[in-house]
Amino acid sequence: MENTVLQQLQEECARANALLVAVSKTKPVSAIEELYQLGQRDFGENYVQELVEKSASLPGDIRWHFIGHLQRNKVKYIAPFVGLIHAVDSEALLEEIHKQALRHNRVIDVLLQVYVAREETKYGLEPTELLDLASRIYARSGAFAQVRIRGVMGMASFTDDQVQVRRELREIRGVFDRLRAQCPEWQDFCTICSMGMSGDYRVALEEGSTLVRIGSMLFGKRG
Ligand SMILES: *Cc1c(COP(=O)(O)O)cnc(C)c1O
Repeated sequence: MENTVLQQLQEECARANALLVAVSKTKPVSAIEELYQLGQRDFGENYVQELVEKSASLPGDIRWHFIGHLQRNKVKYIAPFVGLIHAVDSEALLEEIHKQALRHNRVIDVLLQVYVAREETKYGLEPTELLDLASRIYARSGAFAQVRIRGVMGMASFTDDQVQVRRELREIRGVFDRLRAQCPEWQDFCTICSMGMSGDYRVALEEGSTLVRIGSMLFGKRG
C-alpha cells in the first residue's frame, strides 16, 4: 500500500526539518490506522472526547497532539497520555495542566498559542500577552515544574490573500524567536514553531515552521 500525498508531505517536511502532524479530527479510526501502517506516528485531534475514544483503540506509540481549544475542566481526561498540547492561552490553563501532570507523575509538553490573524473567531494570546505570560512562567518555573513550554502555535487568517498569510506566518515565527531569546534557559527544548495547515503549509515552511498540522490534504474534506 502507498499514499503519495503522505509521502510527498513527509519528504517536504524532512527537507525543511519540520514535523508532520496528521490532523485526524472527525475521521474514523480506520483512516488513522491506514497512515499508521505507512509509518506516520504523529496525529492531531481537536476534541477531548474524540481523542480519548480514538486513542484507546489505537497503538500506544502514536504521539497525540491536542490542537483544539482546551477547557480547564477537560485537561484531566487527556493528561495521562497526551504528547503535546498546542493551544495554551492562559496561566490558569497552564496551572491546571501542571496539576494534572503532577497527578500522573509526568511532564506535559505545551505550546503557547499566539493570535495574529485579522479575524474575530480565533483563540490565542496577542504577541505581547504571550511574551508577558512566558516571562511570568520563566520567573516562577518551580510553580510549573510539570509543564515544558516547547514553543508557540499559531494560525494565519483564512484568506486567499497570500501576502497577508505570509505576513502573519512571519509574525508567528517572530514571536517564537523572541520567546527563545527572552527565555535562554529554555532554548534546548523550546524548539517548536507550530504553523501551517493544508492551505498554507508551504509558505509556513518557508517562513520557518518546524511543525505543520495537515488535515484535509491527507484525509479529504471534512463533512
Ligand atoms: C483542523 C485543523 C488543522 C488542519 O486543517 P486542514 O486545513 O484540514 O489541513 C490544523 N490546525 C488546527 C488548529 C485545526 O483545527
